[in-house]
Amino acid sequence: MRDLAAHLSERALGVDASGIRKVFDLAAKLKDPINLSIGLPDFDVPDEAKDVAIQAIRDGHNRYTPTQGIAPLRERLASDHACDVDNVLVTSGVSGGLFLSILATVNPGDEVVFLDPYFVMYRHLVTIAGGKSVPVDSYPDFRFDAAKVEAAITPRTKLLILNSPSNPTGVMMTEAEVRAAAELAKKHDLLVVSDEIYVPFLYGEATTVPSIADLWPKTILLRGFSKTYGMTGWRLGYAIAPREVAEQMIKLQQYTFVCAPSPFQHAALAALDIPVDDHITAYRRKRDIVMSELGETFEIEHPDGAFYAFPKVPESQTAMQFAERMIEKNVLVIPGSVFSAKDTHFRLSFGLPDERLIVGCKRLRDAAS
Ligand code: PMP
Repeated sequence: MRDLAAHLSERALGVDASGIRKVFDLAAKLKDPINLSIGLPDFDVPDEAKDVAIQAIRDGHNRYTPTQGIAPLRERLASDHACDVDNVLVTSGVSGGLFLSILATVNPGDEVVFLDPYFVMYRHLVTIAGGKSVPVDSYPDFRFDAAKVEAAITPRTKLLILNSPSNPTGVMMTEAEVRAAAELAKKHDLLVVSDEIYVPFLYGEATTVPSIADLWPKTILLRGFSKTYGMTGWRLGYAIAPREVAEQMIKLQQYTFVCAPSPFQHAALAALDIPVDDHITAYRRKRDIVMSELGETFEIEHPDGAFYAFPKVPESQTAMQFAERMIEKNVLVIPGSVFSAKDTHFRLSFGLPDERLIVGCKRLRDAAS
């Protein structure tokens, strides 16, 4: 009899998740750690949205919906984004939108360019599609440098993925950077995926991000509900895409996810009218706590959005070693190598109660000095 590994696909085995698994294995041994590693907010779904979800279940919205999503939600999103309803697809989280975007566009051997550090899923989905990830080093300030990105573009480049505000750095692209990215996409005629899941976690004056979707029509815009409304388990997001691309994504959704969860699509429509300003104010304060607690000890780019900071570890150790040392102090952070070719920084998520965040920051500071 053959070993079970012989039954597994090269596609599955080609996805290397060892970095993050090592951290989770170590973390599983801890009792009530200060968990600065999680990529989700500490608040729950607003009650009004919960009520709508419960009512939708009672009203029998428990069957498949049209693959592209329920009409009222798509119409609302089309109106919000000033596009045609045919451009809108409701997805199973932004993860679902990323999966469909990449599967609909990337052929084996095609290259996909994105900044390093990056959201891990990009690399793995490109691998699954048989494509080649081309991460562009953005250290030390994590900014979009058009010249560096252009140097990575080849005739095989199929997609450029942007993520602003960024996971894991919290850095937000400026208007000038977005314009430069759009010019690059135009010059090389590239399709762009713009992952904007962390809108509206923005801590400056602006209540929205400059988006390449407003400048370059060959853009697949991905937005979510998971983080904004604390509904990561409800699996909802959406894509706004050029019609020909949307059609292919819808076809692929038909044969994979089928549709996003029905009752939650109704709740998401209601959620769009629920203000989240209080959460944003609280998260701006948490960002400020991180910067005032850690800013003098660590080299950190100021996070303008999302709920992450990406400090540099002290010179004498790798980020993995630093994360392991922090586990001994009952604090969880994620080493940069999970998001990057480098292992010099670590990601901390500030989506937890202030008191615990402060204790976590103090322990990080003590470990570094
Ligand atoms: N994009 C980025 C940058 C993320 O950080 C995440 C969640 N960690 C996602 C997409 C996926 O989120 P979801 O599938 O819950 O919408």
